[in-house]
Amino acid sequence: MTLDIRKIRDDFPILNQTVHGKPLVYFDNAATTQKPTPVIEAEADVYRKINSNIHRGVHHLSNVCTEAFEEVRKKVADFVNADSREEIIFTRGTTESVNLLSSSLGETYLQNGDEVILSEMEHHSNIVPWQLLEKRKGIKVKVIPVTDQGELDMEAFKALFSAQTRMVAITHISNVMGTINPIKEVIDFAHSKDVPVMIDGAQAIHHVPVDVQELDCDFYVFSGHKMYAPTGVGVLYGKRKWLEQMPPYQGGGEMIDKVSFSGTSFNDLPYKFEAGTPNYAGVIGLGAALDYLLNQGLETIWEYEHKLFEYALEKMKSVPDIRFIGEAKEHTSVISFLLGNSHPFDVGTLLDKLGFALRTGHHCAQPLMDKMGIPGTVRASFAFYNSREEVDRLIDALNRVSVMLG
Ligand code: PLP
Repeated sequence: MTLDIRKIRDDFPILNQTVHGKPLVYFDNAATTQKPTPVIEAEADVYRKINSNIHRGVHHLSNVCTEAFEEVRKKVADFVNADSREEIIFTRGTTESVNLLSSSLGETYLQNGDEVILSEMEHHSNIVPWQLLEKRKGIKVKVIPVTDQGELDMEAFKALFSAQTRMVAITHISNVMGTINPIKEVIDFAHSKDVPVMIDGAQAIHHVPVDVQELDCDFYVFSGHKMYAPTGVGVLYGKRKWLEQMPPYQGGGEMIDKVSFSGTSFNDLPYKFEAGTPNYAGVIGLGAALDYLLNQGLETIWEYEHKLFEYALEKMKSVPDIRFIGEAKEHTSVISFLLGNSHPFDVGTLLDKLGFALRTGHHCAQPLMDKMGIPGTVRASFAFYNSREEVDRLIDALNRVSVMLG
């Protein structure tokens, strides 16, 4: 199957605009992706046609809205090949999923002196929640170093395990460098030591097929907005055996079985972890995004994006004084770079004036920046609606910026 880029671009109305008088080139997809019309319409249709609070009504609208919401849970379960829909918890995004997990595990499972292994390439949202547990519970965070190529040092990873190791939480794909981590090897090794693994799939779920049963990960988390779905919705997948043992994260409506002042009992999975009115319109939008991705075909998307990435990388090598940050063998469509000694903000600001949306800064990965000894990078991240023509324009722009910045 091949992608009809012209048709695809028509599905993303936001792409068809000018910025500072120049046609917009949106290369900031690792921060958030744009939304196709079917997703925008699906969410708007909730408010136009079926808006009603879910789960609690006996009336028609509430039932229709509940059904649409729960259908998406099934769709997500199928998308990641979860064993059952009860293993899919809706959250606000990856950040909330990690916080849910760390807080809940921190209540009962993780104790003073227990060790959690992260990596140097984690997004802050997979660092800070565990650091909060260091303060609250006295756990210890251990860190897998990253090599100069931007890959995990797997020997160092294995050497970090001790009798106190209780959890590994690691990103599937680096948001800064695009490195695809050998998560299967990570999971298998951790399991050989009886240690569960959480995978942060924020940068992976829309690029590579994810099969949680084949991976055998204990938890897998991701955000809707990075996979063409609305903002404010995300997923925590967890193996049932873990979710059943874990205490609730937040208290409120929906997560209870029975409430009384002499004691409250909690609802079954997945509702035990979904306190309060969820973002049902966003979830229904997520369902439309999954349909959209499946219609294009994840493998077709991967091939297209990978070819675009290789094309861009090759062409960018010709830009004077360009330096790439992270050159891992297994790579997704993200390129982080610096131009000579120029500050990434200066490069980004000039590119913006030329119509380009690229992200500059530390990308919420300050420990990685410290490791690399840089203040930040300029990051181009591609999606399947980007084209070679846009890459060619970026090369021209980078050549101009390079001259401007001397
Ligand atoms: N993890 C990774 C690898 C990310 O790239 C991001 C966002 O950039 C997050 C976690 C946090 O995602 P969110 O802000 O959607 O919760």
